[in-house]
Amino acid sequence: MFDKVLVANRGEIALRVIRACQELGIKAVAVYSEADARAPHVREADEAVCIGPPPSSQSYLLGDRIIEVAKRTGAQAIHPGYGFLSERAWFARAVREAGLVFVGPPAEAIEAMGSKTAARQLAISAGVPVVPGTTEPLRDAEEAAAIAESFGYPVLLKAAAGGGGKGMRIVREPSELASALGAAQREALNAFGDDAVYVEKYLDGPRHVEVQVLADQHGNVLHLGERECSLQRRHQKMVEEAPSPVVTPALRARMGETAVAAARAAGYVNAGTCEFLLDTDGAFYFLEMNTRIQVEHPVTELVMGIDLVQWQLRVAAGERLPFDQKSFTPRGWAIECRITSEDPSNGFLPSTGRITHLHLPSGPGVRWDGGIEDGSEIGLHYDPMLAKLIVHAPTRPLAIARMRRALRELVIEGVETSRDFHLRLLEHPDVQSGDMSIQWLEAHLTELTSASASDETVQLAAIAAALAAHDDRGQATVSNSPASSRATGSAWRDIARRESLGLG
Ligand code: ADP
Repeated sequence: MFDKVLVANRGEIALRVIRACQELGIKAVAVYSEADARAPHVREADEAVCIGPPPSSQSYLLGDRIIEVAKRTGAQAIHPGYGFLSERAWFARAVREAGLVFVGPPAEAIEAMGSKTAARQLAISAGVPVVPGTTEPLRDAEEAAAIAESFGYPVLLKAAAGGGGKGMRIVREPSELASALGAAQREALNAFGDDAVYVEKYLDGPRHVEVQVLADQHGNVLHLGERECSLQRRHQKMVEEAPSPVVTPALRARMGETAVAAARAAGYVNAGTCEFLLDTDGAFYFLEMNTRIQVEHPVTELVMGIDLVQWQLRVAAGERLPFDQKSFTPRGWAIECRITSEDPSNGFLPSTGRITHLHLPSGPGVRWDGGIEDGSEIGLHYDPMLAKLIVHAPTRPLAIARMRRALRELVIEGVETSRDFHLRLLEHPDVQSGDMSIQWLEAHLTELTSASASDETVQLAAIAAALAAHDDRGQATVSNSPASSRATGSAWRDIARRESLGLG
């Protein structure tokens, strides 16, 4: 096993990896930008090195500088977390060439799955079903029209280099195709430096169901069941659960075997995820493989009773997986809510400021994977995800009840957050019955973002704020929301830039 590992990330995932290291008796080296000098991941690590100014292009994305720090501090391996450098094949290769271990798949596997079109070709050759569409970038609007016509509208234009929902356009009619193609190509070029766009059939009402894969260096490839991630806004996940309310043991086995086949075809090692769309008729189609640990990995950890990040480190150190496929049957139900510094009642506008008060939920079955604390400054340089609240309970209804209870315990003051939105989401009868598709959340957005009169928690918060104001100043002043400064127009451009770096 390694003695020392460098963690090339920030926020909750950096802390998550540091915790895994410490439990395995590994020293953790943190890197940080000037904006993160007082961040929890810096304090919790055994050593920390400042690598540059706040913009990630001058800090967390500087692969060569990070490798240099790893060598200087005597780290033997680099864990990239998710986002930033985690899916850059050149970085995985550079780490290897520097004589260090990349805690993730080989650079060749990242490359094979890096482009959506290449991944589709690989999947097809491995006998894995893909969404009907092309495996080559579109040449022009005429070609796009002919292909779209052949499998019928609506279609989805997608950036080959895509990620984070960028460079995607739904086209419902032939007349919209040419301009949508131009827009998708421009967005792809901006975000990924590559304007290759291809086309897929746009499926109506499917679920996003993904399969966790874990592979060692000795040819063992196992799957750890599925996660349901259908609750999405702008193609971005907001709530995830394991297992999926609609996946039977037989379907789990079939989807799992398919994911293992895709992973084997790519020469995959370490933890990875095959994403599928599960259609209303039970057919499933490969979307892409994420060649890293995912944000939503904790729900799998809880139902499978395994520490995925520790296994990432153990597999990277050459350990053999001591499990067989039968070891992995989900126990109970786990749900994760992504707590972001966004204001749902204001178009999910990013909110900035200082966290003036933080009270964390606790009690049975509650897990908080966060990167914030009292006094944390929330700016616009990085992703607005502050933390993940995760619960585990014996059944889905009990897990929902537990999550609602935990969300009610959670207090974050100083910035707007998605907390109340999550509460309303989990109170919705469709979510409670598990009757959702990838289009569900967008279709119910207005209903979910307009605070209803019966919204007890919001009212209680307002009353509490009024009482607090009364106590402090000796007079009653009513404040509905905690102090927060809102993003401005130029802040939006920063966000766009951040997303273009693949951090969205
Ligand atoms: P990205 O890498 O940008 O996240 P994905 O290919 O993973 O893109 O897709 C993100 C989300 O977009 C999916 O979870 C799903 O909700 C939606 N999506 C992708 N492909 C299709 C499709 N062919 N039909 C309908 N929805 C789709």
